[in-house]
Amino acid sequence: MKLQANARASLGENGWPDDFRPDCLIFDVDGVLIDSSDSFPEMVRRAVEEEWAAAGFLADAPGYSPRLNSVFKLHGGFNDDTHIAWGLLNMIAPENHGAGACKLSGLIPSPDELERMIRTCGLDPVGWLRGNFKETFPLGRVIERCMRIYFGEGQEAGVYAREKPMLRASWRDLPLPAYVFTGRSASEWDLAKAVLSWDDFPDERAVTSDSGILKPSGDGLALICRRFGHLSPLFFGDTASDKMSFEAFRRGRFAAIGKILRGAEPNFDSVGDALFNLIGWRDR
Ligand SMILES: [Mg+2]
Repeated sequence: MKLQANARASLGENGWPDDFRPDCLIFDVDGVLIDSSDSFPEMVRRAVEEEWAAAGFLADAPGYSPRLNSVFKLHGGFNDDTHIAWGLLNMIAPENHGAGACKLSGLIPSPDELERMIRTCGLDPVGWLRGNFKETFPLGRVIERCMRIYFGEGQEAGVYAREKPMLRASWRDLPLPAYVFTGRSASEWDLAKAVLSWDDFPDERAVTSDSGILKPSGDGLALICRRFGHLSPLFFGDTASDKMSFEAFRRGRFAAIGKILRGAEPNFDSVGDALFNLIGWRDR
């Protein structure tokens, strides 16, 4: 795995100035380095259904779906998946819809309905939800349940075990210094490092939610660049909150990975495709 001798000559083909040359690579984790499409959305689905049933309501339909996930991920405020489970539960809680309605099948919104429901929500979903809905399902309890489902408990395996690497190269083999800016906690990032076989990735190169810096803030990108003396990062992300973090920082370039940010340019199916097309590096 080496830098290709002839990096593609023109970044201009991708809508970037020809003279842009990144001095480091900063990766979001989920949807970029790690395929977590079977873990976090599954965590949300199970948390919604289990909380719903525990409240004595009828969990007669899936509590979440990939299409609902896409709507939340196109909204910059819902980077934390535990906030998605909690927010969805409280938005559809029977107490917020008049008495009698307690079947999940009748209350889970369609993607269009969900988009309308969260349209007035800004970048503080917790404050927005508490200002507009009764908190039938307490945030702390929903987070605890999500963590039990994600990490596992007792004999039950955590859904994290379903995650797969999206890049099969060591961070050491990449052609530029590599960093991570993620909404994962440090312990969740540790699991991702194991999936990537990046166990030797230095802690100081990663900004996790334990830092208190949360997307869509640009501060995670700023911290990395300040700490390591970089000026032109190439940041890879897959959701609206990543793009907004980049726009807040306003240095370097952003590359969108995957289907959620289909309209963003440049957009690539995988981080491997992006590395090859943008800087001529191929994972071999
Ligand atoms: Mg992501």
